[in-house]
Amino acid sequence: MSTTVFSQLDRSLHEHLAALVRLAATGDDGTAVELARRELPRVVAAVRALLDEHTPDEHGRCPTCRTRRWSRRLPSPCRAYLAAQLALTVTDDEPSGEHRHLRSAG
Ligand SMILES: [Zn+2]
Repeated sequence: MSTTVFSQLDRSLHEHLAALVRLAATGDDGTAVELARRELPRVVAAVRALLDEHTPDEHGRCPTCRTRRWSRRLPSPCRAYLAAQLALTVTDDEPSGEHRHLRSAG
């Protein structure tokens, strides 16, 4: 019952995203350019599609999150919107200074 069509879709989606990240990180320049031109617009389209469902009004509420019980009174900001905002604007490619100075001395 846990292996539904949706869970398979979800898994392949995550695998696809992981592959994109892996390619962007390890691919050569040509791959990176192709990735940016071919895949980036699709990823942007996906984010936009999600954000369409989570468009906060001036109080930070969105039609999707408002249906949840806890947010009916509290004008808490839409979490999906905030998560997207954070993911896109905060860089976290330095987990613990692991590869901070990768080959800095050449
Ligand atoms: Zn929302």
